Amino acid sequence: MAMTDLEFEKAVLPPKAGQEMAYFFIFCDNSIFIDEREEYQVSIPILKMDEALKLKLEDICFLGMIGDRSCYSSHAPALNKGISLKPINIRVLFEKVDFPFWKVAGYAKQIHDWNLNFKYCGRCGQKTERKGDEHVRICSNCSLMSYPRISPATIIAVVKENQILLARGVNFPNKKMFSILAGFVEPDETLEDCVKREVFEETGIIVKNIRYFKSQSWPFPDSLMIGFTAEYKSGEIVIDKKEIEEASWFSSDNLPLVPNQYTIARELIDWFVERSDS
Ligand SMILES: [Zn+2]
Repeated sequence: MAMTDLEFEKAVLPPKAGQEMAYFFIFCDNSIFIDEREEYQVSIPILKMDEALKLKLEDICFLGMIGDRSCYSSHAPALNKGISLKPINIRVLFEKVDFPFWKVAGYAKQIHDWNLNFKYCGRCGQKTERKGDEHVRICSNCSLMSYPRISPATIIAVVKENQILLARGVNFPNKKMFSILAGFVEPDETLEDCVKREVFEETGIIVKNIRYFKSQSWPFPDSLMIGFTAEYKSGEIVIDKKEIEEASWFSSDNLPLVPNQYTIARELIDWFVERSDS
């Protein structure tokens, strides 16, 4: 069933145990398992709960409903021999499924990681337990509560007249790709402080007129990307070689390879291109 007309409704408490077919978002490290059989228009696996248990899936967690079908996140500890599903890197999933499924997969990955990473208390080391009606894990010994973690980061399109500041990060898998600058918010910072610090630290450029653009959940592993535009104020490009291999000003008719659609980086670059054309 295509999801375009269906909404994902988040919920914490699963419906009464049944054997209806349900979507299983199955993860192993940075991979998600997809079903390539042709009869499914979408490739998120659809299984009954007893089939999922036979596959020895662990940490099965109810996420909510797509239409009248339940959704679960789960963990496959290793590629199980009986499994006819194929693991792919979660970052390439968006090329394979409808965008709304990609969004649910991102949510599933973050709930899944939280379930896996907070099994033990960060303060005293004892086991934690899920609380019934919300996504929170509570320490059985000291009662410390752990919620799914979200790490805010700013992502910034810096514009100087008819040019945009783009950089190639040292960790980019594609050595030809450039993108706009981004970095995590530090304790005590406002988002505007973070924008100014990141741009200055990575490229030596000072910015002014910082404006909010939009935000995007980015489940790699748990970011909330908060997009801004900013104008060049002063400075020459001096890169921080620990983070950036190359940075430069580009005009809209001379852009290098940039990130795919569905990324806020691309939306900000497209905003710059439209602005230049008008
Ligand atoms: Zn504890």
